[in-house]
Amino acid sequence: MATTKIVVVGGGAGGIGAAGAARGTDKNADVVVYTEYEDAAYSPCGIPHVHGKEIPDFQSLFLATKDSYREAGIDIHYETAVTGLDVAKKTVTVAGQGEVSWDRLVLATGFTYADPGVPGSDLEGLYYVKNIRQAMEWDKVLDTTKVAVVVEASPLGLEMVTALAHRGIETHVVDPHPWALAEATDPDIAAPVEESWAEMGVKMHFNTKLEAFVGEGGRVRAVRTDQGELPADLVVICTKKRPNTTLAAGSVKIGSTGGIIVDERMATSVPGVYAAGDCIEVPHGVSNVPIQGLSGSHAYAQGKVAGTNAAGGQRAYQPVYVPWGMVAGKWVIGGVSFGETLATALGIPYVLGQATGISRARYYPGVKKVKIKLLAEPGSLRLIGAQMVGQEGIKERADFLAMCVKTGITLRDLAFMENVYSPPIGALNEPIAVAAQNGLASLTS
Ligand SMILES: Cc1cc2nc3c(=O)[nH]c(=O)nc-3n(C[C@H](O)[C@H](O)[C@H](O)COP(=O)(O)OP(=O)(O)OC[C@H]3O[C@@H](n4cnc5c(N)ncnc54)[C@H](O)[C@@H]3O)c2cc1C
Repeated sequence: MATTKIVVVGGGAGGIGAAGAARGTDKNADVVVYTEYEDAAYSPCGIPHVHGKEIPDFQSLFLATKDSYREAGIDIHYETAVTGLDVAKKTVTVAGQGEVSWDRLVLATGFTYADPGVPGSDLEGLYYVKNIRQAMEWDKVLDTTKVAVVVEASPLGLEMVTALAHRGIETHVVDPHPWALAEATDPDIAAPVEESWAEMGVKMHFNTKLEAFVGEGGRVRAVRTDQGELPADLVVICTKKRPNTTLAAGSVKIGSTGGIIVDERMATSVPGVYAAGDCIEVPHGVSNVPIQGLSGSHAYAQGKVAGTNAAGGQRAYQPVYVPWGMVAGKWVIGGVSFGETLATALGIPYVLGQATGISRARYYPGVKKVKIKLLAEPGSLRLIGAQMVGQEGIKERADFLAMCVKTGITLRDLAFMENVYSPPIGALNEPIAVAAQNGLASLTS
């Protein structure tokens, strides 16, 4: 029987997920991965935390060795760019190798940071956090950095601001919006983060438009904004993630977000071509609106679906409800689907239930406040979104609430939910239940 040749472009979470699943589905398939990077399968998610010195070194971010992939029958070509795609001929053009044929192709080319679109973007000293080898070099630069400017309080921006401040660097954040992570979070959820940044010495410049990077001798020395100039030894660019479709554009259908359109099997508009990760768009489970640029866990799961199907298996990907969470300043923020700000922007009506509760028994040392906001559909009271800020249990609540949104749980269900009460890990009254009770009470008051 002829061997199926599956080519994967991309060695990130999406590509490695696809390659592993393809190999697992068809033991005889020829699975080849191309990546521009020196490594595959490291966790980029850990990079900000090495910069912040919470993780002692970069080595622990590597998830598997190059040998382990070889032994698993996955042939990864490192530092090898794919420069062309011909879907009619079923080939890719590989730098240094020429045309390479495929039976099935998985595009997992990931994301690039949006171009800041201002003069000086080619200066030295602008750091785009992504590649681990480059991060190792930039970490040495951080040792001598006195003042850094982070451009945009995006999810990565929140982590990098926190990391640089932990490291004792004078840190400024410039963002055109009125508060941190303004497109995703509500102002009352971001407020404690900003207070803790202020305590850590972070200088926040919200409602501030970036105008230029100012250089001297080819190196950045300042950031010009509409509110004035900020001196900078280093600038960390944390603009929005954009789908990297340079290779795919012109061959497969691209959607309204700029991501590759796929069906639930991660199949693109071209037979035999699949796509996964930050280069695609997928429908949101509540709004059905296509969204892109999700997380590493989404990219990996999508890669597994793409790889399985590319190898002849059957696997479907479900619409997403997007649980999220992160450490920001001295707090952990998180949520699922929408907060009030995003729901309002999208014209989605909601009933709000909110409460400030506690993470442990009130008498147990280390007890922390937890603020919960639940959004429910008027009438049915089905949960459609949530946002939270606290210091403990935010991730677990986000995962749980995402499942609640997915399965149609209502505020009434949550108001009378069972919960764990154990003084060191949980209070008698679960804050989610209290928020739901308050939401119900607001309907009758
Ligand atoms: C600093 C940082 C922090 C993060 N933190 C988190 C976190 O806390 N939680 C979380 O869930 N996710 C996190 N992520 C993950 C992230 O946001 C993405 O969702 C994830 O990296 C997407 O994986 P991907 O495989 O789709 O794309 P990418 O990781 O962008 O990988 C793309 C791959 O494609 C290759 N490539 C692209 N074009 C070509 C070409 N033409 N030829 C050959 N190779 C090509 C690249 O070399 C790379 O291997 C973080 C990422 C970064 C960078």
